[in-house]
Amino acid sequence: MATQLLYADVILPLPLVEVFTYLVPDEWAAQVEPGMRVVVQFGRHKVYAAIVCRLHHVAPERYAVKPVLEILDSAPVVIGQQFRLWNWVADYYLCSLGEIMAAALPSGLRLQSESVIVPHPDFDGDTSVLSDREFLIYEAMHAKPELSLKDVANILSLRQILPIVRSLVEKRVVLVQEALDERYKPRMVEMIRLNTDKYPEEELGKLMDSLEKKAVRQLDLLMAYLHFSREEGTTEWPKASLLQKSGSNAAALQALIKKEVFIAYRQQADRIPVYKGELIEPVKLNPYQEQALLETRAAVDQGKVVLLHGVTSSGKTELYIHLIAEALEQGRQALYLLPEIALTTQLITRLQKHFGDRLLVYHSRFNENERVEIWNKLLSDHSSGHRPYVVVGARSAIWLPYHRLGLVVVDEEHDPSYKQVDPSPRYNARDAAVVLAASQDARIVLGSATPSMESYFNAVAGKYQLVTLERRHADLEMPEVTVVDMREAIKRKQSAGNFSNHLVERLRETIAAGQQAIIFQNRRGFAPYLECNTCTWTPACVNCDVSLTYHKFKNELRCHYCAYVQGLPQRCAQCGDQDVAMKGFGTERIAEELEVLLPGTKIARLDYDTTRTKNAYSDIIRSFESGEVDVLVGTQMVTKGLDFDRVSLVGILSADSLLHFPEFRAHERAFQLLAQVSGRAGRKKQGQVVVQAYKVNNPVLTFVLNHDFKGFYLAELAERYKFFYPPYCRLIEVRLKHRDDKVIENQSRELTAILKKLFGKRVLGPTTPYVSRVRNYYQRQLLIKIEKTLSVQEVKKTLTTALTLFRNQPANRQLIVQIDVDPLG
Ligand code: ADP
Ligand code: ZN
Ligand code: ZN
Repeated sequence: MATQLLYADVILPLPLVEVFTYLVPDEWAAQVEPGMRVVVQFGRHKVYAAIVCRLHHVAPERYAVKPVLEILDSAPVVIGQQFRLWNWVADYYLCSLGEIMAAALPSGLRLQSESVIVPHPDFDGDTSVLSDREFLIYEAMHAKPELSLKDVANILSLRQILPIVRSLVEKRVVLVQEALDERYKPRMVEMIRLNTDKYPEEELGKLMDSLEKKAVRQLDLLMAYLHFSREEGTTEWPKASLLQKSGSNAAALQALIKKEVFIAYRQQADRIPVYKGELIEPVKLNPYQEQALLETRAAVDQGKVVLLHGVTSSGKTELYIHLIAEALEQGRQALYLLPEIALTTQLITRLQKHFGDRLLVYHSRFNENERVEIWNKLLSDHSSGHRPYVVVGARSAIWLPYHRLGLVVVDEEHDPSYKQVDPSPRYNARDAAVVLAASQDARIVLGSATPSMESYFNAVAGKYQLVTLERRHADLEMPEVTVVDMREAIKRKQSAGNFSNHLVERLRETIAAGQQAIIFQNRRGFAPYLECNTCTWTPACVNCDVSLTYHKFKNELRCHYCAYVQGLPQRCAQCGDQDVAMKGFGTERIAEELEVLLPGTKIARLDYDTTRTKNAYSDIIRSFESGEVDVLVGTQMVTKGLDFDRVSLVGILSADSLLHFPEFRAHERAFQLLAQVSGRAGRKKQGQVVVQAYKVNNPVLTFVLNHDFKGFYLAELAERYKFFYPPYCRLIEVRLKHRDDKVIENQSRELTAILKKLFGKRVLGPTTPYVSRVRNYYQRQLLIKIEKTLSVQEVKKTLTTALTLFRNQPANRQLIVQIDVDPLG
């Protein structure tokens, strides 16, 4: 009997609609399994590590089959549960498995011809672990520290190089990079630890005695080290923070290093420090939290999604910690999702104290190798022999290979950053998390102080179970919010620059009392735009239809949509007048005004511009936390996840600017931002919030003032009903981009006509977005509103077919068509 040929359907990390079939040579037929990576050739010259998703015996009909060139893995790197989630995301968000693969797999697992390898900063140089071929590559990197996989192939005169690269990655000799501009530059810091070999605990007394006589400063430093180490549960300290915390000087430290009391060494700065202290039990819950926990358990154990609506500081995080501990006790993993920038060291330390080294942190500030390490740890986390892992991570953590997930928490579930906008897959990790949990029979809790309209609607409708925490822990009062009418303040000369006297007074009092303040302004840069006072001309970007923002520090005009930069114009380009003035204000200007208004106050800025480098964000947070900084001025970045005990005042400038976006979610977003940033005030005793606005009678402000989420929800829901928007319908947005304005105008009309035939009045548009041209691409968008009574999957099928036909017309070759299901707008 002739043996049947074995074929593998593989997913390539490319936006291809289908999977491709390759022949598995006999020698590997017994070995290959779905979820393993195989090397295949695709196109004429390129090879990729593709993922086997199915094995079968049916030869493809439409093309000549090529063989699998190599098997990279001895065990699957993608497991069955993950494929289920991938398929759901592909169907729901109308994207390809290849796009999902590219989003889901760390690039270290995604080898392809374009990949580049660089030396791993941690490799100790021990080449005895390398094979001859690996050594050749290692040698070559001394001459050229960046090798493309093509270079590697040339050096080895070999075509099958991916297995060698994989081995080099595993041995931590090299790092893989997708694109050169995403290059990872580790920053090293100098660390200090006690030399416990030479000075074990029982020797310390003698050492201290001898220091006391001759070197009091050294003794102080040593004592401080021991004290802080005990307090914070770590024995390893960055040199700078040890010196700062202890108030000691470098000379004393140097002396102790020379005496071999301390050891100095270098370490990558962004490594999460290992917590070495004792693990602590979850706190005892207060009666409200206890009640909420009971309700949560009862609902999740019936398979329901829980929406935990708890005001800021009500103890939601403590509740999550209880639930995580329960999952672990049952031998199951837990996933705690957060928006990227809410993933602060503060929170990680808080969780480490409970979960120690079982806590894995997964976010984009990590290099790819660390991501691969976490991936592999979870892959092998299926034996019940040891305690399961807890993953805390941003959006992309839903893609990890969980074997036995028992709990998913989606904290700040309303946060728009759960939705990936670009590139495809345009998925919402909150909603995907619900599917993930269901597929593994895991409990799921969505939590927020300001739930999204959709989730709250689901909860009210009984689809989710609503659990509430209405009080802050320890009966702490909600912050007191006052609204300042800026028009009045200006008229009465009770303001200076962009600050009302009221807010400046509050700031003074706060700082005088040794407290800290946060100022929120949702624009960055110095002045959002320039304008000619004679003819209203405004300098605009050459690539985008948007005005340029003035950045004072570099004295230049910048586009916030592309990288375009230009100098300041001497005169108006339209009328030649020299009276071109700066309009509006951003964080840069606010920080500068504050320096004048409050001389001597230490001010830091937290926005996109000040956090461009890898560690800038955590550096700024650290300096605020340690009290080096009194006032933190920032954009949205200050609204999330920052919990500082000493912040007693929050100032919000031009609150109404948030309310006027031409977008149906503008009020929801404004309410969330204002309520969230207000919640940063007074985590230990009642705080104050000062909201400055030009039109103070907006109802959203009143709801913020009264901490009235329900009032806001009902008012907003009425609007959504009136204009037929989510949660009353579903939305699919189709975005078109083209370099030619005329083409896009014509083609968007044509597409609208096609879709109107299919979906009738459900199709709105084409409209030109607020910024109509970005990076020289003109844009149009269409919106499809789908009643909840219709089958959305049917609509999607029809839509996909229509779009595929439309795209394949020769006239539309250059047209970019993007589909966004459940767009956030
Ligand atoms: P949320 O996540 O709702 O903002 P947190 O869980 O961060 O609230 O709680 C706010 C503060 O109150 C934290 O410092 C937390 O440790 C403390 N806290 C909350 N509940 C308790 C409790 N039952 N016992 C002791 N401290 C608590
Ligand atoms: Zn002019
Ligand atoms: Zn631009």
